Amino acid sequence: MNTKNITIMVGDIMMSWENLKEACVGCTECELHKTRNNVVFGVGNPEAEVLFIGEGPGESEDLKGEPFVGRAGKLLDDMLGLIGLSRSKNIYIANIVKCRPPGNRDPGQDEREKCFKWLRAQIEILKPKIIVCLGRIAATELIDSGFKITQSHGKWFDINNSKYMALYHPAALLRDPHKKPDTFVDLKELEKMILRICERTYE
Ligand code: URA
Repeated sequence: MNTKNITIMVGDIMMSWENLKEACVGCTECELHKTRNNVVFGVGNPEAEVLFIGEGPGESEDLKGEPFVGRAGKLLDDMLGLIGLSRSKNIYIANIVKCRPPGNRDPGQDEREKCFKWLRAQIEILKPKIIVCLGRIAATELIDSGFKITQSHGKWFDINNSKYMALYHPAALLRDPHKKPDTFVDLKELEKMILRICERTYE
């Protein structure tokens, strides 16, 4: 697969990955555009078979224009490293909302809904084999609106030809390190699934 050759309809406009990125960084559809420094489109390999999805940018991400670059991001990179994954090599990382909710509040329903077209298009172009939701907000948006992260982290869900799993959000692991052993088990489960269904991730 070559993401660069794929075009999809977003609204009534045909877009490639690059068109999508350009349109997304110019988005003014919700209030968040007024307070952002940068739109955080995503980072990683646009040919990745595994897509990680967080909630939305925090202060560091808003300043840098890249997801997960603060303390939680450092922990995420360490977690990924445990199973041979890296944002610079074999995964892609995006968020439910692309602009920072002021004061790091949860993104509002209206903001999530307006922003969802960008993530939907990213998923349509990437066609990931595996989607990993980082935390409750991503899991309730993408897996099930009633998703309970404490009960269902590490479980697999088949949705639209992809396998979905949720992990505890790295910020939750920083707040409560007792959750780390469970997350290690979930990461090993993810590694097993990658070895089973992905062709290029560990090549
Ligand atoms: N938390 C998220 O959910 N996403 C980021 O990009 C950073 C922190």
